[in-house]
Amino acid sequence: MRPTGSLHLGHYHGVLKNWVKLQHEHECLFFVADWHALTTHYDSPEVIQNNVWEMVIDWLAAGVDPNHATLFIQSQVPEHAELHLLLSMITPLGWLERMPTYKDQQEKLTEKDLSTYGFLGYPLLQSADILIYRANLVPVGEDQVPHIEFTREMARRFNHLYGRELGFEQKAEAAIKKMGGKKSRLYEELRTRYQEQGDDEALAAGQALINEQQNLSLGDRERLFGYLEGGGKVILAEPQSLLTVASRMPGLDGQKMSKSYHNTISMREDAESVTKKIRTMPTDPARVRRTDPGTPDKCPVWALHQIYSNDAVRNWVQEGCVSAGIGCIECKQPVIEGVLKEQEPMRERAKMYMESPSLVRNLIADGCEKAREHARDTMRDVREAMGLRY
Ligand code: SF4
Repeated sequence: MRPTGSLHLGHYHGVLKNWVKLQHEHECLFFVADWHALTTHYDSPEVIQNNVWEMVIDWLAAGVDPNHATLFIQSQVPEHAELHLLLSMITPLGWLERMPTYKDQQEKLTEKDLSTYGFLGYPLLQSADILIYRANLVPVGEDQVPHIEFTREMARRFNHLYGRELGFEQKAEAAIKKMGGKKSRLYEELRTRYQEQGDDEALAAGQALINEQQNLSLGDRERLFGYLEGGGKVILAEPQSLLTVASRMPGLDGQKMSKSYHNTISMREDAESVTKKIRTMPTDPARVRRTDPGTPDKCPVWALHQIYSNDAVRNWVQEGCVSAGIGCIECKQPVIEGVLKEQEPMRERAKMYMESPSLVRNLIADGCEKAREHARDTMRDVREAMGLRY
């Protein structure tokens, strides 16, 4: 996520809630994309600097848990830049120019000169961000799917150019290396079987051994099979998009909640300001007086009831609005309560982290170190494959 502004409830419902869920289902890495932010904010780096830590606190406030996921800052893992550079050598220019987001963003952000090298190459930097962790799933919205497809093509191109046929023994060694603690026993066993039985039986034995490893993630398991079966050519793994159900959080004016529409409620906004913002929200323009009936479908408050209210409250709104049985201020009260209730644990968690900035810095430092371990591992293979190990 790019650190270009404070996060609001649209980010919470659209992205962070999903991260909180994913962190219990997969081994997750979430990072502050400060280099990506520079592609559009190269002339105002202070915006990025000011937002990095606030954004991490917002993540933590939302319930992203450093004990379950690795949180880090992109620029603190310089291997991303090295992989980006090396991939740039083999990236056809046309692949980048054809990206739908490239022209689209250039047209939208007219106040900025985006005819830069960094902006054209940002999908490639994104590919490096993914490939360096040999990630098998990337949680994205529909609009980012072409970027994941591009990343897959980059991985294929790289593997095609630099992947090498390895003998079974070398493949097994490379595979076992990835298994960490179980390494030596497995390797010895595989080697013995290979020597005793030849390729086919050893392959079956290797697969059985991999299957027995309880502590391997699905991604690792697939990668290891790839190593054993695929002629040792898989250096960069092809990721898949993990499509998130589009959750369109309405803003205070009924449009999508977005900083550019000035219709947001920040994730940690204080209760007084939230109450005031919702109390002054526009409603169905037909309800000029308290006695005028209205239509919920024409009212942005109704859109918020879809998120924050249960069936009973929604029925109360429907009936009360069309019959002018309730007033708009009355109707808004459950939404105010719903938002405040949602924010309460966020404010509490954020308070703890704000009172102890060193805690946040330390957990990010740990995350960066963890991320770097994966990244170094990939870069060692990449350099070796490209003949850059001296
Ligand atoms: Fe909107 Fe509720 Fe007022 Fe109807 S009663 S116009 S739904 S705020």
